[in-house]
Amino acid sequence: MSESFLLVRPYYGVNVHSDAHGEFGTVLTGNEVYPDLPLISAATVLAGSEDHEVTVIDAESDKLPPDELLAKIIGTPVDKIIIKTSAATIKCDIELIRKIKESSPSRYIMIAGQAAKPVSIWLASHTDIDEIIDEPLDLYIYRYVNGREGTIDDLPTPDYTLADYRKYITEEGDIRLSVQASRGCMMGCKYCPYTQFYKAYETRSIDKVIEDLKTFESLGAKIVQFRDQFFTYDKKRVQDLCKRMIKEGINIKWTCETRLDSIDEETAELMKKAGLFMVLFGVETGDKDIIKEYNSNKGDLTFQKDTVRMLKDKGLLTMGFYIIGFPEDTWDSLQNTYQYAKDIDSNIAVFNEYMNFDTSGIEDPSPDIYCSFSNTTNTYGTSILTRDEIRYAIGVFRENYTLEHDCLKKAYEFDHVLMAKYQAKVSELLSCGNDLGEISRIIREG
Ligand code: SF4
Repeated sequence: MSESFLLVRPYYGVNVHSDAHGEFGTVLTGNEVYPDLPLISAATVLAGSEDHEVTVIDAESDKLPPDELLAKIIGTPVDKIIIKTSAATIKCDIELIRKIKESSPSRYIMIAGQAAKPVSIWLASHTDIDEIIDEPLDLYIYRYVNGREGTIDDLPTPDYTLADYRKYITEEGDIRLSVQASRGCMMGCKYCPYTQFYKAYETRSIDKVIEDLKTFESLGAKIVQFRDQFFTYDKKRVQDLCKRMIKEGINIKWTCETRLDSIDEETAELMKKAGLFMVLFGVETGDKDIIKEYNSNKGDLTFQKDTVRMLKDKGLLTMGFYIIGFPEDTWDSLQNTYQYAKDIDSNIAVFNEYMNFDTSGIEDPSPDIYCSFSNTTNTYGTSILTRDEIRYAIGVFRENYTLEHDCLKKAYEFDHVLMAKYQAKVSELLSCGNDLGEISRIIREG
């Protein structure tokens, strides 16, 4: 008799790009929905096994309130339930699991996602969760099903039809799916959450990536997001991949994330021809001492500026990421970072709050290290600036940058109206504590 699994991504009122930030997840302010690639890949491995059955519930894409999700889970007779958690939702996830157990004590429940890893001892001793998966879910399931370790090259083409993939859409309504040609990064930036969760750099064969892309195209995907952490690490491989995409006539627009110090003009030209429309890259800080402290040298300012100019000249969109609020940051260093961002002059600049996931100094870390519905943690330590000061700086930088690179109307609509709406919603959700009934009411009331 086959063993049945239920794989669940819950939803508590805000969208979470749950495989971002090293699978800690990133809360989104808008309505777009990103798939969780490791969850879909894990489900695909189970679906392809004669000895297993799988059902996927993506409550985020369905906007399913937690009380309805709970009823659905309880009403689905499976052997094992896996809840995909994130830093922003783990406290609600624990409450959801408590309620499942309250109703059906014998259900076998597992929790997956990097957010579970630092608090695994606490979860084992304070909850009835049966198993904590402290590694990427797809590779855990691959080993479970096949009895041996795998890499991303062993995984089948993600079967997005196991979920309602038509709901993985951009703000414009285009279907956007995720793919991975490589996973991991060897550069060792100290703040990087990916290196803590993924093994060393591993690749997926070009033949398989092409097969993935053709499958996604047949499903109507207009955009694909390469979820590689360092897409252009191996330029020859990237060029070979792009040549194959062009040869096979793949008609999908795509984005990738990489380092500016690894893109040359020839590779950028080929990537553009193969459908690339946006390059995302981390710059992080304009402060040389902080760069050194965090082992994060990604090229000097002139080189970074020239590379961004080259990409823009080719008609590519550029998005730079900056970390605001390193423990060493001062008003002056933040000002330098903003000036640095202006000098680099990417089309879009994203200013994120520094997230300290280092729990080494905390005895038995509990889920209280995470801030619900937020892209940050409570493990704040000895920072020079206060959180209020850092958040103020982020708000000012965000609005100014949009204003200087776009227009007053967009700065008002995006940085003012949308952010105010999002912050009001988060305040309302936080006032519910972990009361899933109240959170459900807020979701239903829209
Ligand atoms: S280059 Fe990017 S992905 Fe690689 S370790 Fe640094 S921050 Fe992480």
